Amino acid sequence: MLKLENISKYYYSGKNVVMALRKINLEFKTGEFVAITGESGSGKSTLLNVLSGLDTYEDGKMSVNGQDISHYTVNELETYRKQYIAFVFQDYNIIDSYTVLQNVEIALTIQGYDPKNRKQRAIELIDLVGLDSKMNQKASKLSGGEKQRTVIARALAKDCPVIVCDEPTGNLDTESSKNILKLLHEISSDKLVIVVTHNYAEIHEFATRKIRLYDGEIVEDQFIEKNRRMNDEFSSVKFIKTRPLDILKISWNNIISVPKKSFFTLLIISFMIVAFIFAFGYTLKERNTSLRTETYYFENANPSRVIVTKRDNTPFTDAELEKLGEIEYVRSVVEHDTVFDSVYTNVIYNQEYDMDEFFDYKVLAASSLNEFDLISGRLPNNEYEVVIGNNGFYVVDDFISISNREFIKTIQGALTDQYTFKIVGIVEQTIDIENVKHELYFHDDALDTLHNNAIYENSQKFLVIDDFAYYGLTQDVRIDNTLGDMEVLAYDMMFFDMCRDFGYKAEIIDDFDAGLCPSAPFIEAHTFSIDVYTRFGNTYDPVSIELDSVPIYPHIFGQGLYVNINTFNTIFEDAIYQPSVVVYDMFEANKVKAELEEMGYNVFYPSGVINEDDAMQIIIRNLQLSLTLGLSLVVVYFVGYFVIRNVVVSKRKDYLIYRSIGASKRIINQVVIFETLYLSFVAFIIVMSLLSINERFDTPIPRLLRYFSVGSYISLLFIILILMILMARNFNKTIFGKSVISSLKAE
Ligand code: ADP
Ligand code: MG
Repeated sequence: MLKLENISKYYYSGKNVVMALRKINLEFKTGEFVAITGESGSGKSTLLNVLSGLDTYEDGKMSVNGQDISHYTVNELETYRKQYIAFVFQDYNIIDSYTVLQNVEIALTIQGYDPKNRKQRAIELIDLVGLDSKMNQKASKLSGGEKQRTVIARALAKDCPVIVCDEPTGNLDTESSKNILKLLHEISSDKLVIVVTHNYAEIHEFATRKIRLYDGEIVEDQFIEKNRRMNDEFSSVKFIKTRPLDILKISWNNIISVPKKSFFTLLIISFMIVAFIFAFGYTLKERNTSLRTETYYFENANPSRVIVTKRDNTPFTDAELEKLGEIEYVRSVVEHDTVFDSVYTNVIYNQEYDMDEFFDYKVLAASSLNEFDLISGRLPNNEYEVVIGNNGFYVVDDFISISNREFIKTIQGALTDQYTFKIVGIVEQTIDIENVKHELYFHDDALDTLHNNAIYENSQKFLVIDDFAYYGLTQDVRIDNTLGDMEVLAYDMMFFDMCRDFGYKAEIIDDFDAGLCPSAPFIEAHTFSIDVYTRFGNTYDPVSIELDSVPIYPHIFGQGLYVNINTFNTIFEDAIYQPSVVVYDMFEANKVKAELEEMGYNVFYPSGVINEDDAMQIIIRNLQLSLTLGLSLVVVYFVGYFVIRNVVVSKRKDYLIYRSIGASKRIINQVVIFETLYLSFVAFIIVMSLLSINERFDTPIPRLLRYFSVGSYISLLFIILILMILMARNFNKTIFGKSVISSLKAE
């Protein structure tokens, strides 16, 4: 028995107090079909809300089955509603994106109804309300009467003793109204059905009782004999918990039942994840950026340069060099690392000042570049092509002539064209203000040629005459490929000096006189060889070569010994002690470094050198990066949040309907969280697949996944999940900002 004793309810609007219910006394039994009528504003809805536990009241007592429920808390009232009350409202609260069957079945699911019989039970109920032919139709396509029938079937799914209906036929035509009332009348044979209506005439033939309200007071309470068996006892619904698996299913169903909204949300989440990945990847990338362009020992500390030596200081064999080239991330092996420390000078005539200007260039490997690093042009295809750092002097298709520094020194002031290259590409230039060197990226073959100079510069050279090392030889060794192998062409004047020193002319009057020493007989009378000490190999391994000499060498201004390239290599390049492997950046360098160390080599990575002075700089950089990362995550989160919020708000009515059919707040929280997580997960997979495809091609989209370790993936997924759960929780606050009924009414 549902009993109301002296119930009064006031509404306070501003300073006015509205007495919505005045000392209401009522008793209800099952088997009754009660019509509550009265004019608009008489308190019908208020009465219904109070007796169904949707609203509180100021005075009086209410009890069910003899149990006083007057002092129930909000949560206890919710349990009361769950156990005893089902609702049918004027605005047929059904989930438009669900079919009739789903709308009914969801009520059973939420109650934890046995999954095996669930569908069968739903079908029975749909049959009962006469909607069997519309079972699989989307609710949005139903007529008003059909919608209300669906709602009634759903109300019946919850097998509770009381069904309250507020103006259930308010939006229906006469014919449909009559059918609905008839249905409710049938249902009321073993339930208490309370219907609020302002049109009593249409319900008269079905009602077993008429209660008329006027200004919050009962002015009529009349029983109409319908030959009913009334029952005092209200049997409450036994609620089993909603099954966890069902929560997952409901969430999934919610996603696929609103494909457009879900797709839109998926898109937004994908963008968020992309933004997260880029923010994250950028941080990883920046942490792998070198702090310097040179070190104390190495003029060139480019991140692409990893220097390798053997622990036993023996030269590299061909097989070993080949192995180096096979290491993952190694783009090429430069046999003589010193080429990277040589500096080349380019002379440009400055018309304004009528003088030559000298620009220094450091040597870099074009293999360290990717196509997308280029501002314009392409990568070199052969020895004679270069890519240049964008310094404003050159454009693609220009030619650049460069000379070794030593070479320039010996022929000061002269225009030089020791090597000439065609510029085929331009790349962003990084200039160290304290040590201005421009950048030239060479083809591997060009590096081979250029390294001769580097080796030569880093070697000590002696001319040995009859086993006597002649230290006076400071002449440069130069290349002339018109010479035969092991043939040396010397500047005659050099021997004038020597033959003087060797005492060929006893009385020397002045410097000029020394030049008169007859060199030809001196050369004929002695054997010559060249000994070389390179910086790395401490071997004394003289190369005996035949010396030719002519008085004047036609092409050249300075003194020197000329040999062809083969001879040069024989003299200076007999062993490879210190190659470099070329990588893309510091990230790859560190991986290669680890691999090389594993293989048993000494590795030196100039770009990765950390001095004491750097400690502060690194701390500041990491701080900046963390800040940037945090800030971008916050921005992305809020942008995403406010966009997705609109979608959630548009689905709010659905969530409230779950609530009205018995889902607890917790369950709905979980549903919303799972919906978000499903979409996040799918978005994560999609984004990752697209990015890994991107990773394989040379596209302008930065390849950031390369910086991700397994740990970074896990942290990223973790961050995304946390943020999404946080987001879903906020959505729940949006959904449940107001009480269920006021929210439902507001919809
Ligand atoms: P009915 O359903 O019979 O039309 P209601 O129960 O909705 O009437 O309202 C009864 C009285 O209480 C009316 O005077 C109405 O203006 C007032 N009322 C209803 N809800 C509120 C509210 N939330 N705040 C203030 N007054 C309200
Ligand atoms: Mg009303």
